[in-house]
Amino acid sequence: MKYALVTGGSRGIGRAVSLKLAAMGYTVVINYAGNDAAAAETQNLIREAGYPEAELLKFDVSSAEACTEAIEKWQAAHTDGYIEVLVNNAGIRRDNLMLWMEQEDWLKVLNTNLGSFYNVTRPIVKPMLLKKYGRIINMASLSGQKGLPGQTNYSAAKGGLIAATKALAQEVAKKRVTVNAVAPGFVKTDMVEGLDEKALSAQIPAGRFGTPEEVAAVVAFLASPEAAYVNGEVIAVNGALYT
Ligand code: NAP
Repeated sequence: MKYALVTGGSRGIGRAVSLKLAAMGYTVVINYAGNDAAAAETQNLIREAGYPEAELLKFDVSSAEACTEAIEKWQAAHTDGYIEVLVNNAGIRRDNLMLWMEQEDWLKVLNTNLGSFYNVTRPIVKPMLLKKYGRIINMASLSGQKGLPGQTNYSAAKGGLIAATKALAQEVAKKRVTVNAVAPGFVKTDMVEGLDEKALSAQIPAGRFGTPEEVAAVVAFLASPEAAYVNGEVIAVNGALYT
């Protein structure tokens, strides 16, 4: 059995990634925060496609204790395997101009989008190093590459995630573990609900938002054995919005 953990696998990009990894033969462990129905729907889509049965693992990626507990419990129940592919995808945004941003929104976004990288990766990277094979893919953002007004918290978290990607890649490359980031622009999911898609699309050279499947295709490549020599890289998926 080959296992892949996708954080935030219940909806949006995480769901598309879960389906793609399942199609590659992985038993996908679908993490999510609270939306049981959406997580079950992802699990069903994988089942209906005839891919290996996926597992659900509900825990809050922003809590170090919750992550350690859930991952240790999972590992104890799966002595035959380890998480070979980790996609750190769970994320939130709480946009506001810096002038109005409450500390709570600053911390919540930092903890969920960047703290989660530490919380989830730390217990999972050790077995990868021992087995001398692993793929870690971090869901960054255009916002972390360019910085976007109204998103100082989110830009800081995603920018930090990109830096952490590059640092960890250099620590683990010798053990045949790769760590890369994907940086989507605007992608049609619940996260962009409420944005003016028409007005924003006019600014995107491709003339449209991306799809979760277009992001998942890049994740699948980075997760594949063929991507062994791509390490510490950030791949943008943004319709040429920022190059
Ligand atoms: P989404 O549709 O809002 O889905 C968010 C996912 O993250 C859900 O599965 C949610 O679980 C999970 N999640 C949120 N907080 C969590 C927590 N504390 N613990 C565990 N799971 C948690 O978002 P999306 O658009 O697919 O975004 C996925 C990733 O891509 C995020 O990191 C986001 O920042 C990044 N991204 C998105 C875009 C875009 O345009 N959509 C652009 C650039 C980057 P529940 O279902 O249980 O709530």
